[in-house]
Amino acid sequence: MMNPRVTSLNRSSTLKITALTKKLKKEGKDVVNFAAGEPDFDTPDFIKQGAKEAIDSGFTKYTPSTGILDLKQSLAEKLNNENSLSVGPGNIIVTTGAKYSLFVAIFGLLSPGDEVILPAPFWVSYPEMIKLAGATVKKLSTTKENDFKILPDDLKAAITSKTKLLILNYPANPTGATYSREELEAIWEIVKGKDIFVLSDEIYEKLLYDGQTHVSFASLAGADKQTLTVNGFSKSSAMTGWRLGYLVGPQDFISEVTKIVDHTTSCACSVSQKAALAALKDKKWQTDMVKEFELRRNLLFGGLTECDKITPVKPKGAFYMFCDITETGLSSFDFCSQLLNKELVSCIPADGFGAEGFVRMSFATSTESIQKGIDRIKKFVSEL
Ligand code: PMP
Ligand code: GLU
Repeated sequence: MMNPRVTSLNRSSTLKITALTKKLKKEGKDVVNFAAGEPDFDTPDFIKQGAKEAIDSGFTKYTPSTGILDLKQSLAEKLNNENSLSVGPGNIIVTTGAKYSLFVAIFGLLSPGDEVILPAPFWVSYPEMIKLAGATVKKLSTTKENDFKILPDDLKAAITSKTKLLILNYPANPTGATYSREELEAIWEIVKGKDIFVLSDEIYEKLLYDGQTHVSFASLAGADKQTLTVNGFSKSSAMTGWRLGYLVGPQDFISEVTKIVDHTTSCACSVSQKAALAALKDKKWQTDMVKEFELRRNLLFGGLTECDKITPVKPKGAFYMFCDITETGLSSFDFCSQLLNKELVSCIPADGFGAEGFVRMSFATSTESIQKGIDRIKKFVSEL
């Protein structure tokens, strides 16, 4: 009766556990939330102001499917100046969250039988979207020893005549790994000129630590013709609930996939688009947020390093600490459910990320919570 592509999907473990954590907190439970996939900072006032002005002036109707022109112009400026791309408004679709940009890209590109190379560990929604499009996931495993980055020889070996897409996500959810220009160039050399697109999810580009800089895949010489870049406001502007993201790619591709938007969401929320326009005008607070995340990363990493049987991987970016918990003898799921039940600390089991034996702990929470969480995890592990 149901579409088998839908019945074969898994629920999003990140959203499920985040919702459970919020519910427990609402019930008055003192839960330490290491599950959060969103900044705990409130959306800044100057961004809210942009939305308020939109509402008050009656900017509450459908917008063009690909987004309002002034937002696309500002995004093009940002992409040219900060990411070294050569794009204009015609290369951009503003979407309902970056998640919908990914969906539009994946759906626009893939047909049943196509193969997608997906580096693992991966964020939970990629394989499900690929399955929904009827295509096949070709998992490309990475290791802790290689900082969870794909190796050129492994990529070469994974490519077949059916390969249509390579997904890159850096800084990465859940490992925090990121790629240098040289590493990206080595990947580009392999896919260059082939009938393969790269979907580069750069939603955590602003959340980088230790003074690193972000290099956009599409900025490599000639790569723009084969690259679809996804980005959004959820993480960089603390705007998860506003649902605002964008897809950047070759103009002919963008114009074709606009039909998907036409017939599904019509356009992104008009008020959120005005808020996003305001967000692009002031970046200082973003720098402060990143500094705060870096302090929290160091605190959580230091604390977990002192924990028996847990080996944290120091992330280069994003706000997740990926931890090897194999020495505890527990599965990822059992570790997370026992930790939540016994000590009220919530984190995400990484089996859904294609990495059994690991858990993801988010440091998008206050330093007090992080300290409390570390103490509780130490107690939990010592009693195993
Ligand atoms: N890509 C990655 C890697 C993510 O972690 C997320 C999480 N939300 C998204 C895309 C989607 O973000 P959005 O809230 O803009 O849909
Ligand atoms: N991307 C975040 C996470 O991984 C938010 C939840 C989601 O969209 O999956 O937790």
